[in-house]
Amino acid sequence: MTDVVDYELLIGGRWGPAAGGRTFLSHDPATGEPWARFPDAEADDVQRAVAAARAAFEGPWRALTATERGRLLLDAAAVLEQCAETIAEVESRDCGKLLSEARGQAAALHRWYRFFGGLADKLDGRVPPFDFPSVLNYITREPVGVVAALSSWNSPAMLATCKLAPALAAGCTVVLKPSELASASVVELVRALDLVGFPEGVVNLITGSGPGCGQALVSHPDVDRVSFTGGPETARLIAHAAAEQLTPTTFELGGKSANIVFADAALDAAVAGVVAGIFGAAGQTCVAGSRALVQREVYDAFLPRLLERARGCRLGSPRDPATQVGPIISERQLARIAAFVEEARAEGATVAVGGERVRLEELPGGCFYPPTVLTDVRASMRISQEEVFGPVLVVMPFATEAEAVELANSTRYSLTAGVWTADVRRAHRMARRLRAGTVWINTYRTMSPLAPHGGAGLSGHGRENGLEALDEYLAPKSVWVELAEEVRDPFNVRLR
Ligand code: NDP
Repeated sequence: MTDVVDYELLIGGRWGPAAGGRTFLSHDPATGEPWARFPDAEADDVQRAVAAARAAFEGPWRALTATERGRLLLDAAAVLEQCAETIAEVESRDCGKLLSEARGQAAALHRWYRFFGGLADKLDGRVPPFDFPSVLNYITREPVGVVAALSSWNSPAMLATCKLAPALAAGCTVVLKPSELASASVVELVRALDLVGFPEGVVNLITGSGPGCGQALVSHPDVDRVSFTGGPETARLIAHAAAEQLTPTTFELGGKSANIVFADAALDAAVAGVVAGIFGAAGQTCVAGSRALVQREVYDAFLPRLLERARGCRLGSPRDPATQVGPIISERQLARIAAFVEEARAEGATVAVGGERVRLEELPGGCFYPPTVLTDVRASMRISQEEVFGPVLVVMPFATEAEAVELANSTRYSLTAGVWTADVRRAHRMARRLRAGTVWINTYRTMSPLAPHGGAGLSGHGRENGLEALDEYLAPKSVWVELAEEVRDPFNVRLR
C-alpha cells in the first residue's frame, strides 16, 4: 500500500476526527490503490455540525454586514487562485478526472466566489406600489438559514462551490457532505476557505457515507434547505427524508441529453462536439450528451468519422497529458456501465465501437471502460432512456426537425441539449422547443457562474449558478407598517 494521506472534518471552526473515531479509505481509480483516509462521520457529528452552523447563522454571520460578507467571498476567491493546483492534483487522484480538466476547473473556482461575492451587497428587496392609503409594505430577502449541501464524486470541488458561493453570499451557513468516493478536493477547498477568516461554523465539512451521515444530515430538523447533486434514486430517498421535516430541496440530478446534428451543420465541429459531449470526463458528467441524433442525409458521412474519433481516444492515467479518457470512478460503476451495454446488445443494439472493459498493462488495477458507440437502438430501450454515467453513446437517425424534437424530448430527463446547425432560425426554433434547462448551439459543455444550470423531471428542480441560484437560499419577507393613527375594526381582514 502506498502512503495514505489523512484528512479531517471541520466542525465549528475545529478540524478533527469523527466522534466515533472511525475512518474510511478512498481509492485512486486509475490504480485501484487506497491513497487517502477520511473520518467516517455519523449522527453525532451531523448533530455537532448542524448545531455549529445554526450558532454561526444566529450569531456572528448574521451580525456581519452584506458588504463584509461579500468581502470575505472575494478574499476566498483570491486564496483559491493560489490553491488551485493543489485542489486539481488531489481531485485528479481521488476521482480520476484528467489532470488537465481538473486544473481547468480548479483554476475557475475563484470566479464563483467573485461573482457571488460581488452580489452579496446587491440583494435588494423591493417596495410595491402603494396599495393602501395608510399602510407601507416593503419586501426584504432573508437568508433561509442552515443549508445541507450534498454532492457527487465527479467534480467534487466545483459542485461544492456551486452551492457554497451563493449560499454564503445570501447569508446562509453550510454543512457540506461530499461523496465518500471523492472527498479530498472538497477538504482542500475548505482548507483554503478556512484561511480567509469566515466566522467559526459558517462552513462545516463532514465526510462519510451517504446512507450514514448523508441520511442523518438531510433528516435533521434544524436544516433549512437541502441542496443535493446526485442521482435520481438517491434524490428519492432524500425527498422522503426531507418531506418528514418539510425541508425544501434543490435537486441537481442526471441527464440523458440529446446532441442533435442537422445536415447543414459544420460536420467536423459537430463530430468534435458529440465526442466532447460524451467522452469528455469518460461520460461521467450530468450533462453528458449520451444520445446523438443525426439527420439522415448526413448519417452515413457522420458515423464513420465519429467511430474513428471514438476508436482513437487514448485511455490512460489521468496524470498523463496525452490521456483523453481517464478511469471510471469504481468497479461498481464500471459493472453498471457494462450491464447497460450488455442489455442493449441483447435487445438488438449494435456495438459499433468499444463495449468491453479495457485492462491497461501499465495500470492493471485501474477501472477503464472505452468510448462505446451503439447503433440500431430504439428510443424505447433502457439505454436510450436512462443515464449510464459512462462513455456510452447511442446514435439514432432522424428525418425532420419535428422528429428531432420528439426524440430529444422523449425521456423523463431535461437537463441539457445540443444543436448543431448553420441555420440561425432553426437554432432558435430548436432552443424554444427542446425540453432542457440549458441548450447549447454549435457548442457543448460550456458553463459559467453567470448562467443558471438545472433541469426538470428526473433532472431535478431549482437552479445553480447565475442570479437564479440566489433564490434557492433567500426567502422573501413582507413587512407591513400602519402609518395612520386611528384604531381599526379588529374583526375583518384588511384588504384595502
Ligand atoms: P449519488 O446519488 O449516489 O450520491 C450523491 C451524494 O449523495 C453523495 O454525497 C452520496 O454520498 C450522497 N448519498 C447517497 N445516499 C444518500 C442518502 N440515503 N441520504 C443522503 N445522501 C446520500 O450520486 P453519484 O455520486 O453517483 O453521482 C452521479 C449522479 O450525480 C449522476 O446521476 C449525475 O448525473 C449527477 N450529477 C448531477 C449534476 C448536476 O448538476 N445536475 C452534476 C454532477 C453529477 P456517498 O457517495 O458517500 O454515498
